[in-house]
Amino acid sequence: MALTTAAPSVDPVRLRPGLAPYARTTVRLHPRRGTPGVTDSHLGGPLYWPAGEPWPHCADHRDVNGRPLGPYPMAAVAQLTAADFPEIPFPAGTDLVQVLWCTDWHDQPHPEGWGQSCRVFWRRTAEITAVREPAAGEPGTGDAHDEDMVPRPCVLRPERVVEYPWYEELPGGLREGLGEWYEEVSTVPGCKLGGAMGWATTDLPTALDCGDCGRPLALFLQFDTYEFLGGHEPDRWWPLEERHLLPGTPEFTAAREPTGMTVGRGGHAGLFLCSADPTHPPSFFTQ
Ligand SMILES: [Zn+2]
Ligand SMILES: [Zn+2]
Repeated sequence: MALTTAAPSVDPVRLRPGLAPYARTTVRLHPRRGTPGVTDSHLGGPLYWPAGEPWPHCADHRDVNGRPLGPYPMAAVAQLTAADFPEIPFPAGTDLVQVLWCTDWHDQPHPEGWGQSCRVFWRRTAEITAVREPAAGEPGTGDAHDEDMVPRPCVLRPERVVEYPWYEELPGGLREGLGEWYEEVSTVPGCKLGGAMGWATTDLPTALDCGDCGRPLALFLQFDTYEFLGGHEPDRWWPLEERHLLPGTPEFTAAREPTGMTVGRGGHAGLFLCSADPTHPPSFFTQ
């Protein structure tokens, strides 16, 4: 079933013609709990991981006495294919991208404190001849799903939506006097690919640059605790096909919080990649 975002109740460019060049397309991933195939685009597991390749671990942790803890196996977070997401800047010869991260606490702000705690792998599907089986004890392999940073397996129903940037990204003259209507057309919430992130908690960082080469970072994936708010307030982001769900029911919660993650204390987070070379180390910012 496709999931559809309602049209905005205002035409932002009619209200502010200067906004026209700032329109961007983001891809709402619309994750919903399910049993994705190993080669499908999805959030959570299972990953199309080569049988001979070791699973990544994080060795960045120490106890209070400085003794090393771990290493901890990383969690499968996302897998996206070029066929489903042609807008991803795949490095030449690759058609599959996989994101894994450490589920334990890492200092903010990332990326400095994050070290190797998030890894992005670019692969060529045709080179994978045998698939690795997840090992017991790896995040997501047990029955319980009580970890805040391990997404439940979710299938995706991508939808392209036009959005406008976080207001602090606009030039001063355009930023002044924007009404509440701007919230309805800017920084789409939920899990999404590309577009712009909201920075209500910290304000926009003064520099969003690649730690490797200094070029600007671009939002790759946003992860969110909630896909929409729903309930009593009118909420454009509540998919039209799910408006019959009753707040408080398991079905509503599964639609609103499909990954089961609590991101950044119940907010959202952005995984950013270097705009010049996506193979440079990723950066991660929570809100
Ligand atoms: Zn770690
Ligand atoms: Zn870079």
